[in-house]
Amino acid sequence: MSEPVKVTMLGTGAALADPDRGHAAVLLSAGTRHYLLDIGHGATRQLVRANVNPAEVHHVFISHLHFDHMEDSAYFLIASWMANRRVKPTIFGPPGTRDFIDHLLENGAFKLDIAARARYRQRAESMEMIRPAVVEFGPGLIYADEHIRVHADYVDHIEPEILHCFGFRVEIQDRVIAYSGDTKPCDTMRRFAANCDLLIHECTFPEEALAFRAKTQIGTNDHTSPLELGKLAAGAGVKQLVATHFGHFDTTNPVLKGYLQHHMPIELVGPGFMESVVRDIRKNYPGPLHLAHDLMRIDL
Ligand SMILES: [Zn+2]
Ligand SMILES: [Zn+2]
Repeated sequence: MSEPVKVTMLGTGAALADPDRGHAAVLLSAGTRHYLLDIGHGATRQLVRANVNPAEVHHVFISHLHFDHMEDSAYFLIASWMANRRVKPTIFGPPGTRDFIDHLLENGAFKLDIAARARYRQRAESMEMIRPAVVEFGPGLIYADEHIRVHADYVDHIEPEILHCFGFRVEIQDRVIAYSGDTKPCDTMRRFAANCDLLIHECTFPEEALAFRAKTQIGTNDHTSPLELGKLAAGAGVKQLVATHFGHFDTTNPVLKGYLQHHMPIELVGPGFMESVVRDIRKNYPGPLHLAHDLMRIDL
């Protein structure tokens, strides 16, 4: 009997500042081993809320370098160094990750902060723990140990000349978890999701919001709609589905609503808008469905 796998949705919002949803981050845990898929804003604090010491998370996999998927990296690295990290972390990311990390720490953005902290002997002695190993990956098997295998491939989000965007298929114990990062419906996710135990897939805008955006020609749509997600999940035969990366359309916050009025039919914005997501996923997918919220936990 292999160990249970625990999936914790640390952050479930899209890119805006949302009082109720953090940015993208999913924690996979098996026993005392923890793996992070994306590390958007708030991820480190959410680890602590989920009773996981950030200093005990040694592997982070970044799907793409949009800030809502990697912005907590400095917080994670500095805070876990301060929490007496004993194992150097490894950050796996698309091309550009090495440059991002190089400019983030003692060579760049946090140069003064790190120099000030390193005046103390305990910090100076553990200086090497702040700097992660960085592995830039392309499509294929990107990590394997005796507990987990992580496959990556291109998804359809931003043109690769601008930003390399990946989805993941993770084999952990004897379970398979597929994670989309951000994408339109694409063949990679159809393949990665095939017969998986859990598909964690973005579902950024309800159909009504997309119709509004098409009419007003606001932004692009590089995401997956509930109708499309239901089709993909049903076609792939997934055993459970988590819809996540919600574009703040269920908010009750007046600041956020003030902004969203230019992006979607504002009279629909609020918790009730989630019913539209369920209705449209259900047109094609009848299986177990979870609408992600921060700190939601699924045991596999
Ligand atoms: Zn995103
Ligand atoms: Zn993105």
